Amino acid sequence: MSDENGRAFNPFSGPLSQEMWEKAHRVPSAYEDTFDYRMYDRLYARWGADQPRGGVVYKGTMKLLEAQDCARCFHRFEIDTYGRGCIHNCAYCYAKSYLSIRRYWNEPIPFPIDIAAIRHIFATVFETSKRNKFRSILEKRIPLRLGSMSDAFMWMDKTYRVTFELLKILKFYHYPYIIFTRSDLVADDAYMQVMDPRLASVQMSISSINPALTRTLEPGAPSPERRLKALQKLAAHGFWTTVRINPLFPIYPDGYYSNPDFDHSQPIEPFHFFSWDMIEVIAQHQVPTVLAGMARLYQPNLRFMQQALGYDMRAHFAADAREERASLHFSAAETTYYYQRIKALCDQHGLRFSTCYIGNDPTGERFEHDQPLWSNPADCCDALGNVEAFTATCAAL
Ligand code: SF4
Repeated sequence: MSDENGRAFNPFSGPLSQEMWEKAHRVPSAYEDTFDYRMYDRLYARWGADQPRGGVVYKGTMKLLEAQDCARCFHRFEIDTYGRGCIHNCAYCYAKSYLSIRRYWNEPIPFPIDIAAIRHIFATVFETSKRNKFRSILEKRIPLRLGSMSDAFMWMDKTYRVTFELLKILKFYHYPYIIFTRSDLVADDAYMQVMDPRLASVQMSISSINPALTRTLEPGAPSPERRLKALQKLAAHGFWTTVRINPLFPIYPDGYYSNPDFDHSQPIEPFHFFSWDMIEVIAQHQVPTVLAGMARLYQPNLRFMQQALGYDMRAHFAADAREERASLHFSAAETTYYYQRIKALCDQHGLRFSTCYIGNDPTGERFEHDQPLWSNPADCCDALGNVEAFTATCAAL
């Protein structure tokens, strides 16, 4: 609809929707905007005079991570479609640890991104020659990673629709993306229709196939069985899929497999979250690639895990466990044992293998050490060469 001057008519008049629509349409675009911005008004009305700290709209957009400990990551161009929380509420989650101490975690729910700002960025870059800080990255078509400090595919997106809208925008501009999720919403029929196997790599995080422990540690996330079924459905529709065993929690305390001086004479309580038989189960669901990333835990996570499990995970770390930026890590030798054994199982079941070094590699040694284990040395996430629109990674920046 347009007014007598040919200018598009703003159909919204709510306290947030009116301004959002204006922002979205500041740059004329061939992308048809059917998004119902009244969702933001409803959220605003829900809190009335007592708006949550930070407001009902998450202000983030896209970002290129530049921190030292992820400088070599191939997929550090990312976006969260929700901010300030995640209803999956995983006890080991870095974002939960970081935001809880700032009283921003699920206070009281995660809030949706300003999708008008995203539409505005894509229209500016791909339909004008105006300046935009994302232009050089977007024009190189560096894949965008969905999901970092929150899960973009929480089932609440059925109500708020911002992830759904982002997928439509990415499809319209034929833009490649990599999804990190713990939710089977990614294989919902409506969502699959707005995704494109030529553009998308779908990585499902599954740290365990033990349903009870998963419910304990990832209380708001769909079960491992639902996640595996979602992967199978995606594969049947031509999507390139990966299971991320990340965080990978060793079954026994550090040194059990790798330290010749480990005291095996004492009774040990195993932690049956990860299990070696996971690899065979993953292979049965037509997933081509497995990626492993060793757990590291920050102090708040240790507390959350103790509350959930009833015992202290510190017992699983060696006495001299490396502590950086207040997080506990497993030793390089134990990490290598797990990676090599998982890779051997992947070889046995015809799966590709990779590792994620984020959070475990302040010196760059882990990256160098593990790269020979990867099936795809050009891309730890193993999408380059396997998803048609993936022609570059952050290594090109
Ligand atoms: S799904 Fe991801 S972002 Fe959400 S709580 Fe779990 S680890 Fe954190």
